[in-house]
Amino acid sequence: MTLHYHQDYQCVKCENFFLPFLLPVTLCPECGEPNLQSDEFRDIVKLLVEANATHRQQFGRCVPPAYAVFSLIDHYIYYSANIFDMYVEREVPKALLIEEVIASEPPAWQDHLRELLYQVFEEAERQGLFQDLHAHESAESAEDRIEGEAA
Ligand SMILES: [Zn+2]
Repeated sequence: MTLHYHQDYQCVKCENFFLPFLLPVTLCPECGEPNLQSDEFRDIVKLLVEANATHRQQFGRCVPPAYAVFSLIDHYIYYSANIFDMYVEREVPKALLIEEVIASEPPAWQDHLRELLYQVFEEAERQGLFQDLHAHESAESAEDRIEGEAA
């Protein structure tokens, strides 16, 4: 089973869809209009991490085998899941990975996404999403490590 959410958010001025994840206001990446964060987006960063943690527990990775996108939040769950899996599989520093991922986005979106992704990564680390990864690095046998590198 995959987790889905139904909140969408549109800029009050230009009606562009984005996540207002900053308190008290997030600037619209398209037009720069300050948007107040409404109640249902207050814990958005936590929610993104919880969905990824649940999927990782169920499927062994953050990206589920099949995932339908019904809302803006679902879109971000899927987006962050891909990035988390890349982070786990490639073992690159998160700063490098974030810059690589946002480089293909329109310039106006890069600051917005960088800030969001840093918050999501920090929350994921706080919730221990990558804990087994670190345990694996320090405690597991060299055999596993060689397998990981060959893959
Ligand atoms: Zn706007």
